[in-house]
Amino acid sequence: MSYKNLEDKFSNNKTVILDGGNGGELERIGAPMDGQLWCGRCSMENPELVSKVHDSYINAGADVITTNTYATPPIAMRAINLGNQIREWNKKGVDIAKESANKAGRPIAVAGSVSTYGSWFRLGINALRPGFKEQAEILAESGVDLIILEAGSSEPEIVEAAIESTCGVDLPIWVSISCALDKVSGKLMCGLQESIDNNSEALLFEDFELVISRLTQIHKGPILVMHSDLKVTNEAVKIITRNHEGIVGAYPNAGFWEKPAWRFEDKVTPELYLKEAKCWVSNGAQIVGGCCGVGPELIESLSELSDGITL
Ligand SMILES: [Zn+2]
Repeated sequence: MSYKNLEDKFSNNKTVILDGGNGGELERIGAPMDGQLWCGRCSMENPELVSKVHDSYINAGADVITTNTYATPPIAMRAINLGNQIREWNKKGVDIAKESANKAGRPIAVAGSVSTYGSWFRLGINALRPGFKEQAEILAESGVDLIILEAGSSEPEIVEAAIESTCGVDLPIWVSISCALDKVSGKLMCGLQESIDNNSEALLFEDFELVISRLTQIHKGPILVMHSDLKVTNEAVKIITRNHEGIVGAYPNAGFWEKPAWRFEDKVTPELYLKEAKCWVSNGAQIVGGCCGVGPELIESLSELSDGITL
């Protein structure tokens, strides 16, 4: 049971290293991206490339790899008439990750990504709710060690619905949300800004701290800040730590989104990424990894943090 390894690290004040982004890395190594399901088709059509990405994160020192199921939630697949393949595609994502984990030679946990990817802006919570449960159950039955609810960029009510919908799944649940800076108030908000450097448009919902304090009422497991600009991540970690008694984590972006693809910027060096991650760990994060634009090279820089840091 690979989750035991993570629990041991948590209780010994060590740091769990999560992988980087799957979609961005698949794109970087040449996997075709789909206009509707982004990297979702790769599990079925380019499984060898998905394996390659998992292996590269394991070789970079990740303790946890994430299934390539972020872009295959039921709601997104049904929207393009792939409803009868939801189980097969999501299970395939788990099988590929488990195969990489099993041959690693050390304990690697497989996190099943349950996401809000798709048409959530057009659909209400009631339409989304069954999909969270369905995807989480498929991933659990397929043998993941934990579920990671990747609700980044969704309204807080949707995050709450995702948590409630998966509470019957008998696995550890991690919850990940995004945040962005409201330049007017100077406050961190639950929401999304792809890149501060690129000055991308921000989508802002509620005050991040208020949302976190509410989430902690219904979720005691790990809470992570995900898919957020590197510059706001440390502040987000501080906010989660001061409100949440459970485990805290961070996996931000590097580079920025420029339609139709993630643009890779070399501005974030391994040294800079490690420096930022040290701040997260010193502010209470025990899970560190990366999201879009963060590949194996940046993940490898985090291995120095495995044993935690001395404050
Ligand atoms: Zn991301």
